[in-house]
Amino acid sequence: MSNAAIDDRRSIQKSYHPHVGVHLRDMFAARVLDGQTAVVTGGGTGIGLAIARALGRQGARIVIASRSQEHLDAGMEALRESGCESIAVSVDVRQPGDVDAMVARALEAFGRIDILVNNAAGNFICRAEDLTPNGWNAVIGIVLNGSFYCSRAVGRHMISRGGAGSIVSILANYAWTGSAGTIHSASAKAGVMAMTQTLAVEWARHRIRVNAVAPGPIESPGAARQLWPTDDAVNRITKTVPLARWGTAEEVANAVLFLVSPHAAYVTGEVLTVDGGQWLGRGTFGFLDLGTTPTSEPGS
Ligand code: NAP
Repeated sequence: MSNAAIDDRRSIQKSYHPHVGVHLRDMFAARVLDGQTAVVTGGGTGIGLAIARALGRQGARIVIASRSQEHLDAGMEALRESGCESIAVSVDVRQPGDVDAMVARALEAFGRIDILVNNAAGNFICRAEDLTPNGWNAVIGIVLNGSFYCSRAVGRHMISRGGAGSIVSILANYAWTGSAGTIHSASAKAGVMAMTQTLAVEWARHRIRVNAVAPGPIESPGAARQLWPTDDAVNRITKTVPLARWGTAEEVANAVLFLVSPHAAYVTGEVLTVDGGQWLGRGTFGFLDLGTTPTSEPGS
Protein backbone atom coordinates (compact mmCIF):
# COMPACT_ATOMS: atom_id res chain seq x y z
CA MET A 1 0.00 0.00 0.00
CA SER A 2 1.40 3.46 -0.90
CA ASN A 3 2.23 6.03 1.81
CA ALA A 4 -0.52 8.28 0.51
CA ALA A 5 -3.05 5.42 0.83
CA ILE A 6 -1.86 4.66 4.36
CA ASP A 7 -2.12 8.36 5.38
CA ASP A 8 -5.56 8.46 3.85
CA ARG A 9 -6.66 5.38 5.79
CA ARG A 10 -5.24 6.79 9.04
CA SER A 11 -7.03 10.09 8.59
CA ILE A 12 -10.33 8.28 7.95
CA GLN A 13 -9.80 6.23 11.09
CA LYS A 14 -8.77 9.26 13.15
CA SER A 15 -11.85 11.14 12.04
CA TYR A 16 -13.87 8.18 13.24
CA HIS A 17 -12.01 7.83 16.54
CA PRO A 18 -9.35 10.37 17.59
CA HIS A 19 -7.43 7.82 19.69
CA VAL A 20 -7.30 4.97 17.17
CA GLY A 21 -3.54 5.40 16.53
CA VAL A 22 -2.89 5.01 20.25
CA HIS A 23 -5.00 1.86 20.42
CA LEU A 24 -3.18 0.31 17.47
CA ARG A 25 0.32 0.77 18.84
CA ASP A 26 0.32 0.98 22.61
CA MET A 27 -2.11 -1.56 24.02
CA PHE A 28 0.53 -2.81 26.47
CA ALA A 29 3.23 -0.68 28.06
CA ALA A 30 5.60 -3.51 29.08
CA ARG A 31 6.94 -6.47 27.09
CA VAL A 32 4.39 -8.87 28.56
CA LEU A 33 5.52 -11.85 26.44
CA ASP A 34 9.25 -11.71 27.24
CA GLY A 35 10.77 -15.23 27.31
CA GLN A 36 7.83 -16.85 25.50
CA THR A 37 7.74 -18.47 22.05
CA ALA A 38 4.79 -18.10 19.67
CA VAL A 39 4.02 -20.15 16.55
CA VAL A 40 1.81 -18.31 14.03
CA THR A 41 0.58 -20.36 11.06
CA GLY A 42 0.14 -18.28 7.91
CA GLY A 43 2.37 -15.75 9.68
CA GLY A 44 4.08 -14.45 6.52
CA THR A 45 1.14 -12.43 5.18
CA GLY A 46 -1.83 -10.25 6.10
CA ILE A 47 -3.40 -10.76 9.51
CA GLY A 48 -0.96 -13.52 10.47
CA LEU A 49 2.02 -11.21 9.92
CA ALA A 50 0.37 -8.46 11.98
CA ILE A 51 -0.20 -10.99 14.79
CA ALA A 52 3.41 -12.20 14.59
CA ARG A 53 4.65 -8.61 14.73
CA ALA A 54 2.39 -7.68 17.66
CA LEU A 55 3.49 -10.69 19.72
CA GLY A 56 7.13 -10.17 18.73
CA ARG A 57 7.07 -6.52 19.82
CA GLN A 58 5.88 -7.72 23.21
CA GLY A 59 9.02 -9.86 23.56
CA ALA A 60 7.88 -13.24 22.17
CA ARG A 61 10.24 -15.20 19.93
CA ILE A 62 8.29 -15.88 16.75
CA VAL A 63 7.91 -18.90 14.45
CA ILE A 64 6.04 -18.09 11.25
CA ALA A 65 4.93 -21.17 9.33
CA SER A 66 3.30 -21.62 5.91
CA ARG A 67 3.86 -23.17 2.47
CA SER A 68 5.24 -20.41 0.25
CA GLN A 69 8.93 -19.49 0.65
CA GLU A 70 8.15 -16.11 -0.89
CA HIS A 71 5.59 -15.36 1.85
CA LEU A 72 7.95 -16.59 4.56
CA ASP A 73 10.88 -14.49 3.25
CA ALA A 74 8.74 -11.34 3.10
CA GLY A 75 7.40 -12.06 6.60
CA MET A 76 10.89 -12.58 8.01
CA GLU A 77 12.04 -9.30 6.47
CA ALA A 78 9.12 -7.43 8.05
CA LEU A 79 9.74 -9.06 11.44
CA ARG A 80 13.45 -8.21 11.30
CA GLU A 81 12.59 -4.58 10.55
CA SER A 82 10.35 -4.60 13.63
CA GLY A 83 13.20 -5.96 15.78
CA CYS A 84 11.52 -9.35 16.40
CA GLU A 85 13.56 -12.52 16.98
CA SER A 86 12.06 -15.00 14.54
CA ILE A 87 12.45 -18.06 12.34
CA ALA A 88 10.39 -19.29 9.38
CA VAL A 89 9.32 -22.90 8.90
CA SER A 90 7.86 -24.38 5.76
CA VAL A 91 4.67 -26.31 6.54
CA ASP A 92 1.45 -27.48 4.92
CA VAL A 93 -0.89 -27.64 7.93
CA ARG A 94 -2.99 -30.28 6.12
CA GLN A 95 -0.13 -32.75 6.61
CA PRO A 96 0.21 -34.07 10.20
CA GLY A 97 3.85 -35.08 9.51
CA ASP A 98 4.69 -31.50 8.39
CA VAL A 99 3.03 -30.13 11.52
CA ASP A 100 5.04 -32.42 13.82
CA ALA A 101 8.23 -31.34 11.99
CA MET A 102 7.23 -27.66 12.46
CA VAL A 103 6.90 -28.19 16.21
CA ALA A 104 10.25 -30.05 16.33
CA ARG A 105 11.96 -27.19 14.44
CA ALA A 106 10.47 -24.57 16.78
CA LEU A 107 11.66 -26.54 19.82
CA GLU A 108 15.12 -26.96 18.31
CA ALA A 109 15.39 -23.19 17.77
CA PHE A 110 13.77 -21.86 20.96
CA GLY A 111 13.38 -24.81 23.37
CA ARG A 112 9.68 -24.30 24.12
CA ILE A 113 6.36 -23.16 22.66
CA ASP A 114 4.04 -21.05 24.84
CA ILE A 115 1.61 -19.70 22.26
CA LEU A 116 0.00 -21.11 19.11
CA VAL A 117 -2.05 -18.99 16.72
CA ASN A 118 -4.05 -21.03 14.18
CA ASN A 119 -4.34 -18.41 11.46
CA ALA A 120 -3.68 -20.31 8.19
CA ALA A 121 -6.74 -20.54 5.94
CA GLY A 122 -7.94 -20.82 2.38
CA ASN A 123 -11.24 -19.64 0.94
CA PHE A 124 -13.09 -19.00 -2.33
CA ILE A 125 -16.64 -18.19 -3.30
CA CYS A 126 -18.74 -21.03 -4.74
CA ARG A 127 -22.39 -22.05 -4.61
CA ALA A 128 -22.84 -25.15 -2.43
CA GLU A 129 -24.36 -27.16 -5.30
CA ASP A 130 -21.29 -26.45 -7.47
CA LEU A 131 -18.64 -27.14 -4.84
CA THR A 132 -16.58 -30.25 -5.65
CA PRO A 133 -15.40 -32.68 -2.97
CA ASN A 134 -11.85 -31.45 -3.76
CA GLY A 135 -12.83 -27.83 -3.09
CA TRP A 136 -14.62 -28.80 0.11
CA ASN A 137 -11.67 -30.91 1.31
CA ALA A 138 -9.10 -28.21 0.48
CA VAL A 139 -10.69 -25.67 2.84
CA ILE A 140 -11.74 -28.16 5.53
CA GLY A 141 -8.20 -29.59 5.33
CA ILE A 142 -6.47 -26.27 6.00
CA VAL A 143 -8.88 -24.70 8.48
CA LEU A 144 -10.47 -27.55 10.46
CA ASN A 145 -7.93 -30.37 10.13
CA GLY A 146 -4.93 -28.00 10.15
CA SER A 147 -6.09 -26.22 13.32
CA PHE A 148 -6.55 -29.59 15.00
CA TYR A 149 -3.20 -31.01 13.89
CA CYS A 150 -1.40 -27.86 15.11
CA SER A 151 -3.34 -27.68 18.39
CA ARG A 152 -2.71 -31.37 19.03
CA ALA A 153 1.03 -31.20 18.31
CA VAL A 154 1.62 -28.01 20.31
CA GLY A 155 -0.78 -29.14 23.08
CA ARG A 156 1.15 -32.42 23.48
CA HIS A 157 4.37 -30.42 23.89
CA MET A 158 2.76 -28.06 26.44
CA ILE A 159 1.34 -30.99 28.43
CA SER A 160 4.61 -32.93 28.38
CA ARG A 161 6.60 -29.99 29.74
CA GLY A 162 4.18 -29.61 32.66
CA GLY A 163 1.44 -27.47 31.18
CA ALA A 164 0.62 -23.76 30.75
CA GLY A 165 0.20 -22.08 27.42
CA SER A 166 -2.27 -20.33 25.19
CA ILE A 167 -3.90 -21.21 21.86
CA VAL A 168 -5.87 -18.74 19.76
CA SER A 169 -7.61 -19.66 16.50
CA ILE A 170 -8.65 -17.09 13.92
CA LEU A 171 -12.25 -17.76 12.89
CA ALA A 172 -14.53 -15.42 10.89
CA ASN A 173 -17.62 -13.66 12.21
CA TYR A 174 -19.74 -15.95 10.01
CA ALA A 175 -18.90 -18.79 12.39
CA TRP A 176 -21.95 -17.32 14.23
CA THR A 177 -24.27 -17.11 11.23
CA GLY A 178 -23.15 -19.40 8.42
CA SER A 179 -22.05 -17.84 5.13
CA ALA A 180 -23.97 -18.33 1.90
CA GLY A 181 -21.31 -18.61 -0.83
CA THR A 182 -18.54 -20.08 1.33
CA ILE A 183 -20.08 -23.17 2.94
CA HIS A 184 -16.69 -24.91 3.27
CA SER A 185 -15.14 -22.01 5.21
CA ALA A 186 -18.22 -21.38 7.37
CA SER A 187 -18.43 -25.07 8.29
CA ALA A 188 -14.71 -25.25 9.06
CA LYS A 189 -14.69 -22.06 11.16
CA ALA A 190 -17.73 -23.21 13.15
CA GLY A 191 -15.92 -26.52 13.68
CA VAL A 192 -12.87 -24.68 15.00
CA MET A 193 -15.16 -22.73 17.34
CA ALA A 194 -16.44 -26.04 18.77
CA MET A 195 -12.83 -27.27 18.96
CA THR A 196 -11.90 -24.12 20.90
CA GLN A 197 -14.67 -24.66 23.46
CA THR A 198 -13.87 -28.36 23.77
CA LEU A 199 -10.11 -27.94 24.23
CA ALA A 200 -10.64 -25.07 26.68
CA VAL A 201 -12.35 -27.50 29.04
CA GLU A 202 -10.24 -30.57 28.26
CA TRP A 203 -6.92 -28.78 28.70
CA ALA A 204 -7.84 -26.43 31.55
CA ARG A 205 -6.29 -28.92 33.97
CA HIS A 206 -2.99 -28.40 32.13
CA ARG A 207 -3.41 -24.58 32.45
CA ILE A 208 -3.66 -24.28 28.67
CA ARG A 209 -6.12 -21.53 27.71
CA VAL A 210 -7.87 -21.90 24.34
CA ASN A 211 -9.68 -18.97 22.74
CA ALA A 212 -10.61 -17.59 19.33
CA VAL A 213 -10.94 -14.29 17.48
CA ALA A 214 -13.67 -13.88 14.86
CA PRO A 215 -12.86 -11.04 12.45
CA GLY A 216 -15.30 -9.36 10.09
CA PRO A 217 -14.09 -7.43 7.02
CA ILE A 218 -10.37 -6.73 7.45
CA GLU A 219 -8.06 -5.07 4.92
CA SER A 220 -5.81 -7.86 3.63
CA PRO A 221 -4.42 -8.25 0.10
CA GLY A 222 -4.56 -12.09 0.11
CA ALA A 223 -8.23 -12.25 1.06
CA ALA A 224 -9.08 -9.31 -1.21
CA ARG A 225 -7.77 -11.15 -4.29
CA GLN A 226 -10.05 -14.12 -3.63
CA LEU A 227 -13.13 -12.60 -2.02
CA TRP A 228 -13.67 -8.86 -2.82
CA PRO A 229 -11.62 -8.07 -5.93
CA THR A 230 -13.61 -4.98 -7.05
CA ASP A 231 -14.31 -1.52 -5.55
CA ASP A 232 -18.01 -2.24 -5.87
CA ALA A 233 -17.65 -5.39 -3.73
CA VAL A 234 -15.64 -3.45 -1.13
CA ASN A 235 -18.26 -0.68 -0.98
CA ARG A 236 -21.14 -3.13 -0.63
CA ILE A 237 -19.38 -4.87 2.26
CA THR A 238 -18.58 -1.53 3.97
CA LYS A 239 -22.30 -0.74 4.00
CA THR A 240 -22.96 -3.85 6.09
CA VAL A 241 -20.72 -2.66 8.95
CA PRO A 242 -22.42 -0.50 11.63
CA LEU A 243 -19.05 1.17 12.39
CA ALA A 244 -18.94 1.99 8.65
CA ARG A 245 -15.36 1.00 7.93
CA TRP A 246 -13.06 -1.99 7.43
CA GLY A 247 -10.90 -3.22 10.28
CA THR A 248 -7.12 -3.42 10.14
CA ALA A 249 -4.92 -6.47 10.60
CA GLU A 250 -3.42 -4.67 13.62
CA GLU A 251 -6.84 -4.50 15.28
CA VAL A 252 -7.19 -8.28 14.96
CA ALA A 253 -3.62 -8.65 16.26
CA ASN A 254 -4.46 -6.53 19.32
CA ALA A 255 -7.34 -8.88 20.16
CA VAL A 256 -5.01 -11.89 19.89
CA LEU A 257 -2.41 -10.11 22.01
CA PHE A 258 -4.97 -9.50 24.74
CA LEU A 259 -6.11 -13.14 24.73
CA VAL A 260 -2.59 -14.61 24.97
CA SER A 261 -1.44 -12.06 27.57
CA PRO A 262 -1.62 -12.35 31.36
CA HIS A 263 -4.43 -9.75 31.22
CA ALA A 264 -6.69 -12.58 29.98
CA ALA A 265 -5.44 -15.19 32.46
CA TYR A 266 -9.02 -16.11 33.49
CA VAL A 267 -10.43 -16.15 29.93
CA THR A 268 -10.78 -19.51 28.18
CA GLY A 269 -13.22 -21.01 25.66
CA GLU A 270 -14.16 -17.49 24.51
CA VAL A 271 -14.67 -16.06 21.01
CA LEU A 272 -13.84 -12.37 20.65
CA THR A 273 -15.59 -10.92 17.61
CA VAL A 274 -13.73 -8.04 15.90
CA ASP A 275 -16.09 -6.86 13.17
CA GLY A 276 -17.39 -3.34 13.79
CA GLY A 277 -20.77 -4.87 14.72
CA GLN A 278 -21.22 -6.45 11.27
CA TRP A 279 -22.72 -9.79 12.25
CA LEU A 280 -25.37 -8.11 14.39
CA GLY A 281 -26.48 -6.17 11.31
CA ARG A 282 -29.55 -4.04 11.88
CA GLY A 283 -31.27 -6.46 14.21
CA THR A 284 -33.72 -9.02 12.87
CA PHE A 285 -36.48 -6.45 12.09
CA GLY A 286 -34.36 -3.48 10.94
CA PHE A 287 -36.89 -1.16 12.69
CA LEU A 288 -34.90 2.02 12.13
CA ASP A 289 -34.90 1.43 8.37
CA LEU A 290 -38.68 1.07 7.99
CA GLY A 291 -39.43 4.80 7.86
CA THR A 292 -41.99 4.28 10.65
CA THR A 293 -39.94 5.28 13.72
CA PRO A 294 -42.41 6.43 16.40
CA THR A 295 -41.72 9.97 17.54
CA SER A 296 -43.83 9.88 20.70
CA GLU A 297 -44.16 7.45 23.61
CA PRO A 298 -47.12 5.02 23.62
CA GLY A 299 -50.16 6.50 25.27
CA SER A 300 -48.89 10.09 25.06
P1 NAP B 1 -4.06 -14.39 3.78
O1 NAP B 1 -3.01 -13.32 3.79
O2 NAP B 1 -4.37 -15.02 2.47
O3 NAP B 1 -3.62 -15.50 4.85
C1 NAP B 1 -3.76 -16.86 4.70
C2 NAP B 1 -2.44 -17.50 5.16
O4 NAP B 1 -2.63 -18.92 5.29
C3 NAP B 1 -1.30 -17.27 4.19
O5 NAP B 1 -0.18 -16.76 4.89
C4 NAP B 1 -0.98 -18.65 3.63
O6 NAP B 1 0.41 -18.80 3.43
C5 NAP B 1 -1.46 -19.56 4.78
N1 NAP B 1 -1.85 -20.89 4.32
C6 NAP B 1 -2.79 -21.20 3.40
N2 NAP B 1 -2.85 -22.54 3.23
C7 NAP B 1 -1.92 -23.07 4.06
C8 NAP B 1 -1.50 -24.40 4.34
N3 NAP B 1 -2.07 -25.45 3.73
N4 NAP B 1 -0.53 -24.59 5.25
C9 NAP B 1 0.06 -23.54 5.88
N5 NAP B 1 -0.30 -22.26 5.66
C10 NAP B 1 -1.28 -22.03 4.76
O7 NAP B 1 -5.43 -13.83 4.33
P2 NAP B 1 -5.82 -13.07 5.70
O8 NAP B 1 -6.96 -12.21 5.37
O9 NAP B 1 -4.63 -12.49 6.36
O10 NAP B 1 -6.40 -14.29 6.59
C11 NAP B 1 -5.84 -14.65 7.84
C12 NAP B 1 -6.93 -15.30 8.70
O11 NAP B 1 -7.97 -14.36 8.98
C13 NAP B 1 -7.60 -16.51 8.06
O12 NAP B 1 -7.85 -17.48 9.07
C14 NAP B 1 -8.91 -15.94 7.57
O13 NAP B 1 -9.94 -16.92 7.45
C15 NAP B 1 -9.22 -14.97 8.69
N6 NAP B 1 -10.19 -13.93 8.33
C16 NAP B 1 -9.86 -12.92 7.47
C17 NAP B 1 -10.82 -11.95 7.17
C18 NAP B 1 -10.51 -10.77 6.29
O14 NAP B 1 -11.40 -9.95 6.09
N7 NAP B 1 -9.32 -10.63 5.75
C19 NAP B 1 -12.09 -12.03 7.72
C20 NAP B 1 -12.40 -13.09 8.56
C21 NAP B 1 -11.44 -14.02 8.86
P3 NAP B 1 1.05 -19.70 2.24
O15 NAP B 1 0.38 -19.30 0.97
O16 NAP B 1 2.50 -19.32 2.30
O17 NAP B 1 0.84 -21.13 2.63
